[in-house]
Amino acid sequence: MKIIVFISELESDIQQQWLALIKQQLINETILLPHQISDTQAKSIDIAIVANPNPNDLARYTDLIWIQSLWAGVEKLTSGILNKSVKLVRLIDPQLAQTMAESVLAWTLYLQRNMAEYAQQQASKRWNQLPCISSNELRVSVLGAGTLGSAALNALNKLEYQLSCWSRTPKQYHDIKSYSDFNGLKIMLGKTDILINLLPLTQQTHHLLDKELLSELPKGSKLINFSRGAVIDTHALLELLEIGHLSHAVLDVFEQEPLASSDPVWSNPKITVLPHISAPTNMHTASEVVGNNIKMYRENNVIPKSVDIKQGY
Ligand code: NAP
Repeated sequence: MKIIVFISELESDIQQQWLALIKQQLINETILLPHQISDTQAKSIDIAIVANPNPNDLARYTDLIWIQSLWAGVEKLTSGILNKSVKLVRLIDPQLAQTMAESVLAWTLYLQRNMAEYAQQQASKRWNQLPCISSNELRVSVLGAGTLGSAALNALNKLEYQLSCWSRTPKQYHDIKSYSDFNGLKIMLGKTDILINLLPLTQQTHHLLDKELLSELPKGSKLINFSRGAVIDTHALLELLEIGHLSHAVLDVFEQEPLASSDPVWSNPKITVLPHISAPTNMHTASEVVGNNIKMYRENNVIPKSVDIKQGY
């Protein structure tokens, strides 16, 4: 009987919940934690299930064939996988995409209907009606049109926003403008009222949204970052909010998490801070996805679509 190793830096009770749910899906498998596995056993393990581990903790498993991540974002592993022949499979869960689409819709409406400003007005008992722009007049652009980006675009489309997206390879949508390459990005940004970032963090996207690119957005435009903090140069963002070029940002992700209590971002009235909660993994549906992936591999020797390590996603 083959062993599957479960590697994470999760708190022990959360780790136990994951293990229990995954074991329910894989009743014929032996799933163990690293300390339960001898060095000899480690050498024969072909599958690791991981939740954002330290990549060095994988080094002992020299015969690994593939790694199933419980997270959708895998930037920590793409830079650290030791054995380049090992396949890395991210979590692709329709429930996660649905949750992200709901968040994108909720926070786009929050910005569209000036909710942050009204909360501030209420705090100072100010009665002031701000312009009410309908969704079909608002230009909303999504960076990334993958699993989460395309679910977000579908949800936004139902409210008839003027939609655009940007991705590495161009997309064919009936009623959404698709842009690719750097020039396409600049053009799209110039026609955007609300920008939503759903790009993975890679070498190419690290600090992609710097001062130059953020300045391409029209004056008064707004930003939502739901993928990774480091895709945006925070100093540039703060500067553009300060001078009023951008009017508000909703940030769910940060270069340092949790955000330090001393971080000025907390008290910036033009920033809404969320604690990395736009699309939390649903343990039940994710365990089912992982279970099915592993069963398919055991039965047919098919490894699910894996990350392109060179591209970083
Ligand atoms: P995905 O399916 O891999 O999609 C990535 C998209 O980004 C694709 O459209 C891809 O283009 C595009 N892209 C990648 N690199 C690019 C580049 N250099 N230039 C232009 N476009 C580029 O990923 P996903 O499942 O949608 O997830 C996106 C990210 O969301 C994850 O990496 C993770 O960081 C984040 N996330 C956040 C939360 C949260 O709670 N905040 C939860 C889950 C995930 P192509 O279509 O051409 O390949």
